[in-house]
Amino acid sequence: MEQRRARMVSEQLARRGIDAAAVLDAFRRVPREEFVAHDDLRHAYFDGPLGIGYGQTISQPYVVALTVEALALRGHERVLEIGAGSGYAAAILGLLAREVDTIERIPELAATASDRLARLGFANVHVHCADGTLGWPPNAPYEAICVAAGAPRPPKPLLDQLAIGGRLVIPHGDASSQHLVRIIRRSEHDVVEEDLGEVRFVPLVGEAGWPAHA
Ligand code: SAH
Repeated sequence: MEQRRARMVSEQLARRGIDAAAVLDAFRRVPREEFVAHDDLRHAYFDGPLGIGYGQTISQPYVVALTVEALALRGHERVLEIGAGSGYAAAILGLLAREVDTIERIPELAATASDRLARLGFANVHVHCADGTLGWPPNAPYEAICVAAGAPRPPKPLLDQLAIGGRLVIPHGDASSQHLVRIIRRSEHDVVEEDLGEVRFVPLVGEAGWPAHA
């Protein structure tokens, strides 16, 4: 597995332009096979998303890397992730930041991710079951926020919970295709947005996202 992980890092990430050493190192250290369904063990290092039940997926490693690299973490940050899913991206974030809050709306996925992260020793990653479109007010503001599900637009609560100088990386667009963007909060009222490319995520369902029946 370790060899397959090293190959994933060089062929799927470094070759496509991910070059932050700390990011590549985090992907070398997190055992992705612990985060996929048992039947998918042999596909753990597949270059794409995999089903994790409840209609949800563990994201493609490259998309996680692109998101995490864009957060430009230096190690001291408190990070908020929306869409814990398997907990894989949260584990990567846990190695790159001080504290991670990750929110998951499906209770069964939240419970599994929480148990798994605790078992693997990610003590600085906290899984909460809630509607992440509302952010996590108790610990706001955050220096970095990332969203692992496609939104119609960046939810206002997340923009409001971003510290000055903070980065929000989020896919937004319509249901079939989105653009991954990085929004940097320059000051109280000033944000800049950059496009990181076209992506396809499961929908962000919630009060400031898509309605549940869509
Ligand atoms: N980061 C995950 C990817 C999970 S896919 C991983 O590494 O495995 C996106 C997840 O977002 C799904 O589990 C979905 O249930 C969740 N989600 C969708 N809308 C949400 C919301 N409003 N709040 C919290 N989680 C949400």
